[in-house]
Amino acid sequence: MNYIVMDLEWNQAADTKTKLENELIFEIIEIGAVKLDEDRHIVDTFHELIKPQVFQRMHQITGELIHLKIEQLKSCRSFVEVMQDFLAWCGEEYRFCTWGNLDLIELQRNMEYYQMKPLANKPLEYYDVQKLFSIAFEDKKSRKSLEYAVDYLKIEKDKAFHRADTDAYYTAKIMERIEDANVLTHVSFDTFHLPKKRKDEVRVVFDNYEKYISQSFPDKLEAMKNRKVTAMKCFLCNGPTKRKITWFSSNGKHYYAVSHCEQHGYLKGKIRMRKSVHDELYVVKTIKLVDEVAVEEIRKKKDQVRELRKEKRRLKNEAKS
Ligand SMILES: [Zn+2]
Repeated sequence: MNYIVMDLEWNQAADTKTKLENELIFEIIEIGAVKLDEDRHIVDTFHELIKPQVFQRMHQITGELIHLKIEQLKSCRSFVEVMQDFLAWCGEEYRFCTWGNLDLIELQRNMEYYQMKPLANKPLEYYDVQKLFSIAFEDKKSRKSLEYAVDYLKIEKDKAFHRADTDAYYTAKIMERIEDANVLTHVSFDTFHLPKKRKDEVRVVFDNYEKYISQSFPDKLEAMKNRKVTAMKCFLCNGPTKRKITWFSSNGKHYYAVSHCEQHGYLKGKIRMRKSVHDELYVVKTIKLVDEVAVEEIRKKKDQVRELRKEKRRLKNEAKS
């Protein structure tokens, strides 16, 4: 399998009127990519500017950032033509690698705008190199700029930033520098296309937690009725667990539960209600091993929710009488 390290530059409406007139928010005007082989060595590059078809004026900030004039793009090929060549260049088996999660969303939004065949009909596995950098060299949580990472790894800055070809090149250089194979187990999932079938739902196990991405649901209640959504199997032994704290929510967006596996101890479940790009509701659930202190904290949170409900009921009753 090859790695396709990709970076895009896009333009947007230069004024409010144009913005309101158009369905597309970001129009891709440049694509740059570096192909890495399985050992993450650079084997090829792809770079092309794209003729704008939606926005005929450059947004001021975009123009300043990427140093491109709209006139330079007018003789280029269209998005669909470039994309067809690009996807052929990607080959049969590949995984996208991008700095952050935006490029894949905007790529697919543009593809959808031009009614191109989708990249996938289910969540797309990819590497968010910004996240991998944080896992490999920093605290796993922070998200730094591409230039910060380049400086940190003392990669030679021989090209200007904020152009698709150079940013893809720097991102590829960062990919090359990740030595710990364990870091590369941290795939990300782009949910532009949610799973349409049960078998396409995502369930992956990382070092100390499991992640699950569901199909879409009409509403939260339906989601919480689904047994796959609320299941709390132990991801280490696949064995049954005893429910210690049943699912509850403090804000209607996040739900928590705790189960206990005889062999592996306490498992904390967290459900996040998410909205897709197409405004569909879906669930991201994580299950991870926790200690008793964490269990106590969740118990306290649940008690607080219960107390708050009681208090609300009391006030309501008081108001009535
Ligand atoms: Zn277990």
